[in-house]
Amino acid sequence: MSHSKKSEFGSKCVHAGVGEYEFGPVVPPIYQTSTFKFESTAHGASLFKGESEGYIYTRMKNPTIEAMENAVAELEGGHKALGCGSGMAAISTVFLALLKAGDHIVSSKAVYGPTATLLRTVISKFNIDSTFVNTAVIDEVKSAIKPNTKIIYVETPGNPTLEVSDLKEISEIAKQAGALLVVDNTFMSPALQQPLSLGVDIVVHSMTKFLNGHADVVAGIIVVKDEEMFTLMRKVLNQLGGVIDPFNSFLVHRGLKTLDLRMQRHSESAQIIAEYLEAHPQVKWVRYPGLKSHPQYDICKKQHKNTGGMISFELAGGFEAGEIVMNNVKFCQLAVSLGGVESLVQHPASMTHLSMGKEAREKAGITEGLVRLSVGIENVNDIINDLDQALKKVEEKIPHKVEEHA
Ligand SMILES: *Cc1c(COP(=O)(O)O)cnc(C)c1O
Repeated sequence: MSHSKKSEFGSKCVHAGVGEYEFGPVVPPIYQTSTFKFESTAHGASLFKGESEGYIYTRMKNPTIEAMENAVAELEGGHKALGCGSGMAAISTVFLALLKAGDHIVSSKAVYGPTATLLRTVISKFNIDSTFVNTAVIDEVKSAIKPNTKIIYVETPGNPTLEVSDLKEISEIAKQAGALLVVDNTFMSPALQQPLSLGVDIVVHSMTKFLNGHADVVAGIIVVKDEEMFTLMRKVLNQLGGVIDPFNSFLVHRGLKTLDLRMQRHSESAQIIAEYLEAHPQVKWVRYPGLKSHPQYDICKKQHKNTGGMISFELAGGFEAGEIVMNNVKFCQLAVSLGGVESLVQHPASMTHLSMGKEAREKAGITEGLVRLSVGIENVNDIINDLDQALKKVEEKIPHKVEEHA
């Protein structure tokens, strides 16, 4: 779609990546094939030499996957993109493509759990050290830089604290250090935050979340700024093999069409819910980019187009209150993951991070009453009514805890 480059973001979501195909379908067909025929030995040779355009094998290139990749690249304002089998496949491919033995990486402390584990257990085996800092504090980033720092890796808003890092400022630090700035844009999506326009070098996503948006695909993507980086990433992805398949690409591409609409609704509802929670006596604090109480509210205002669908809050009644809320919600569903059309709720202390133990949780900033809510696109009243009745159960069972709030 040649005209879509100039159109508004919401229109790009609908049209980006859609090309011309045999029989004139409006939607890119699913080329569910592992391999493509050569017309002759000369044709096969020219494809392998890169002298003619075409397809060889789906791990290398496939038209359905390419259509989705072109769409995400356009939405992020990037040069090109590479679809991956999961967000972790995208992240590990970027690390392995850019780092060599003896290099150093500075990473956000509030980062998706498996990303930190990947750096600590797999990447560290190749004599690559990581320093984890609060990237919302610029001085912490500056003082973590070493002569061998090759990547600054930032997740913003960070998980699960929703701390927000200033990408423009960090990109200046990266340039001075001769390092590349890689950003995980999963929580905001390009509808709300466009890191490449702020000086970031590479964007990664778990498309499992907002980009696909329907909780039915696990996928990831790498978005780059120039052909040189694209060639490197494509080569490494092809060798590591963490590619996406045509059907999942089709589903993600379909999900993208409503990205702008969905992010508007997620933001609008989450703002109302965040304000409701902040006023609730059973809630100690709420962390949400749309609240004035957010510690980086000023950066949120300049860096985000809207406030997003993720809320973290701390229950005054701690661990016990968290369990009561989890066991009494009826509309919101108890599940990990986020960014889908349905509202999901999670209490790390009693669920994902239970086995870690209280002390280790405290060190990681995961407090006992912390609840993470991924606000879906249902009617906001249904979500609030559900939280309200679950919080009433907390009041009934541990009424004394309310006083701690005052
Ligand atoms: C889910 C998630 C990932 C990992 O993505 P997968 O698709 O599950 O591999 C990475 N970063 C963030 C911020 C996530 O939420």
